[in-house]
Amino acid sequence: MQLRFETVYYEPNTLNYELGKMLRTKYADLPWVEIENHNYIPELTAAENRGFPKLKSLLIIGVRKTHKYVPNHKVSDWLVPFTSSGCRAMCLYCYLVCNFNKCSYLRLFVNREQMMDRLLKKANAATVPQCFEIGSNSDLVLENMVTNNLRYTIERFGREGRGHLTFPTKFDMVEPLLNLEHGGKTIFRMSVNPQDIIRRIELGTSPLHSRIQALNNVAEAGYPVGLLIAPVILLKDWKRQYSELIAQLADELSEKVRKTGFIEIILMTYSFVHNAINKEAFPGAVQLYDREAMVGRGRGKYSYRNDLREEAEAFFRQELADKLGTMPILYIS
Ligand code: SF4
Repeated sequence: MQLRFETVYYEPNTLNYELGKMLRTKYADLPWVEIENHNYIPELTAAENRGFPKLKSLLIIGVRKTHKYVPNHKVSDWLVPFTSSGCRAMCLYCYLVCNFNKCSYLRLFVNREQMMDRLLKKANAATVPQCFEIGSNSDLVLENMVTNNLRYTIERFGREGRGHLTFPTKFDMVEPLLNLEHGGKTIFRMSVNPQDIIRRIELGTSPLHSRIQALNNVAEAGYPVGLLIAPVILLKDWKRQYSELIAQLADELSEKVRKTGFIEIILMTYSFVHNAINKEAFPGAVQLYDREAMVGRGRGKYSYRNDLREEAEAFFRQELADKLGTMPILYIS
């Protein structure tokens, strides 16, 4: 996959870092615009909602200043602010849109050595091994196409770290990761949805079939693996769509993934902000806000009604027990 950008916005001190210099050379043919702070770029903040796809074609380069780890209680113990935030793809429900509003474009942080030193210090000081989620603010497999940061991260943690790293992805570009010395310390989680949802809603991500192959390949390369069925979207024919998805997974996942992998299931949440941006930026797209099926959860957020959530949970537990019974379900949320 070729990632194309139109303009680079950068903090000048990023050019003092090795990664900043590499990016300057790699994207030398693009316009480079100097900014004071990657967190606040007035002309982009002021952009109209309909300009959202154009914002996604920008690349922002800065130095990460926030390093606060947030405790987590799912696959990982900690959410770690890492080497990027935002993403070049345009999933219509992306929670980063909600967190960062329109600035969900790809931001790269050049001080990866500093972030990694900090992570290793925390990992190695813990009394029991910890798991660190490093991909909660972006898609690191996609980011890796620009920076090669995953190679650095996985190998360094493999050599020096205790416990695990983990990240989810919706991309299939795993080839550069297959021969790394990972030491089994990075848990690779592939996010999947029915192909029709990928095509119409997860704009700019990899197709289902190649995501499944990518997961098979990383499992074969010795990485611990998981499958994220997320976000589950309850469109009109959701039972048929997800039943077909699970049948395809049962058919195409390798024996190794089926025997060693785990499953997480997350139902979609949506928001007023998504709705406003999608209506103007993607007027012909699938309508994800469903007045009948969703209820408000405060601060402009919506999630599916409790009775629908229960119905979905029962459905997934049954379908997965029937077709992928060897893979434990860690949680449905
Ligand atoms: S791939 Fe992930 S980070 Fe990127 S737009 Fe989709 S949901 Fe957001």
